[in-house]
Amino acid sequence: MSDAQVIIIGSGMGGATMAASLAASGRRVLILERGDYLRASAHDRDDGSIFRDGHYRPEEEWLDGNGAPFNPGNYYFVGGNSKFYGAVLIRFRREDFSPLKHIGGTTPGWPISYEEMEPYYCMAEQMYSVRGKAGDDPTEPPRSADYPFGPLPDEPAIAELRKRLSSVGFHPSFLPLGVDLDRWLSRAKTPWDAFPDTNGGKLDAETGALNAALKHENVTLRTNARVQRLLTGEGNRITGVELSCGEVLLAPTVVLAAGAVQSAALLLASANDANPSGLANRSDQVGRNFMNHNCSAVLALRPFKRNDSIYQKTLMLNDFYLTGGRNGEPLGNVQMLGKISSTILQASSPLPGPVANWVARHSLDIYAMSEDLPDPQSRVTLENGQIKLNWKRSNWDAHLALVAKLKRVLRKAGYPFVLARPFDRRTPSHQCGTAKMGLDPVTSVVDANCRSHDHSNLYITDASVLPTSAAVNPALTIAALSIRAAEHIQANNEAA
Ligand SMILES: Cc1cc2nc3c(=O)[nH]c(=O)nc-3n(C[C@H](O)[C@H](O)[C@H](O)COP(=O)(O)OP(=O)(O)OC[C@H]3O[C@@H](n4cnc5c(N)ncnc54)[C@H](O)[C@@H]3O)c2cc1C
Repeated sequence: MSDAQVIIIGSGMGGATMAASLAASGRRVLILERGDYLRASAHDRDDGSIFRDGHYRPEEEWLDGNGAPFNPGNYYFVGGNSKFYGAVLIRFRREDFSPLKHIGGTTPGWPISYEEMEPYYCMAEQMYSVRGKAGDDPTEPPRSADYPFGPLPDEPAIAELRKRLSSVGFHPSFLPLGVDLDRWLSRAKTPWDAFPDTNGGKLDAETGALNAALKHENVTLRTNARVQRLLTGEGNRITGVELSCGEVLLAPTVVLAAGAVQSAALLLASANDANPSGLANRSDQVGRNFMNHNCSAVLALRPFKRNDSIYQKTLMLNDFYLTGGRNGEPLGNVQMLGKISSTILQASSPLPGPVANWVARHSLDIYAMSEDLPDPQSRVTLENGQIKLNWKRSNWDAHLALVAKLKRVLRKAGYPFVLARPFDRRTPSHQCGTAKMGLDPVTSVVDANCRSHDHSNLYITDASVLPTSAAVNPALTIAALSIRAAEHIQANNEAA
């Protein structure tokens, strides 16, 4: 039983932000989270546990496009994938909201403009206490308010990289981050990128939004509560949800925020007589247009110079974000990775121990990220109830061009040895696109307020609604969209 007025499925970036945004309205909000709280343990700052042993990976297998099973790097805890994130909280660029010609095709643009999103980006930056430096990056879109806090300090090796990049004509800038540095380091001197947050050192969905929401007595969280089906009734409205234990919970409004892969899977698994191809799927777009950035790790070395950085992740370079292709096409974003250790290197490459030790001691570790374009054939489906992720990556030539340019830039800046390796396909960190937003119900799943075209009391507020992936990290955009959708729910007096 439940007397909730709003059920939110998932406590990740989209779900927790929705809960925080609705909390003060007094609506009775019930958050259903499949996972449990991440607790402090000997594993949470142990790179071997995390990267080699896969301690936090789920006991779950998905199928890839060829039907081969794999264990996905998709995390199910209170706070969702943001518990592991690199805490880069960056706005999509203004140009990302309009059609853009890429090497691999032209993106469709969004049904809302950057200007419409801007106030919500400000609210999201406040909610997640983002640290950054306004006006620092030439591609930064206009903003109506400064960052809540100034940027995190560079470590010496990164300060030197910044200087060297500037001296050869490029424009490095500070990465906008949701990290309380002293707090993070007080637990252990490790990077935060891909490490789980158990001490509140990151401003993630739990620490930035959920904890504030739960201070309101009208907001409740149920952990270990996995939704297996959404239910429909009269007028094709959603009546409630069914948990994997069989319990049915009813509510006048349901917000789906289980992450781009799981939300699509849930909608497909909820097919019924009135909705034979799944819920919210009259357009046949649910599960399609799956995107995940094209990414490589790029390691830059000066043989006699050690890199003693702990966290490293304070710099980005957007000189190739809007241009750089042969005909001026965008190539992507460059940002620091968390400092790579020898253990991480050995877990993710064939390098033998002594070589990995030496490389890790000297390398500056960089993340090159390019846009993946929407493709209806790149999709999540269910095969006998199991998730099949047939990711058809696109725009790969743009990514190769970005990596090649970056190598040249780094050599010019005084790092003679540069190695690059694409990221593993099993971890869909920046998954999005599987329930795309659009104005036309024939070609999209939700409207510009994240409301389902087919079910008037269903909202989807996670990464699945993004019509394009841009080439920067998605979490702040997910949060901004969720705040905007919450405003819409309240303005329409829904579930009041
Ligand atoms: C290692 C790593 C680093 C990253 N770094 C960054 C970064 O620096 N910046 C950035 O912007 N993004 C980053 N990301 C991506 C970012 O974390 C995600 O984009 C964001 O968390 C997605 O939010 P979401 O709400 O769509 O889904 P999620 O955060 O995945 O939340 C979904 C929630 O729903 C729950 N759930 C799933 N199924 C069910 C069900 N059936 N019933 C109930 N609950 C369910 C899950 O347990 C989870 O808590 C990173 C991701 C990873 C893995």
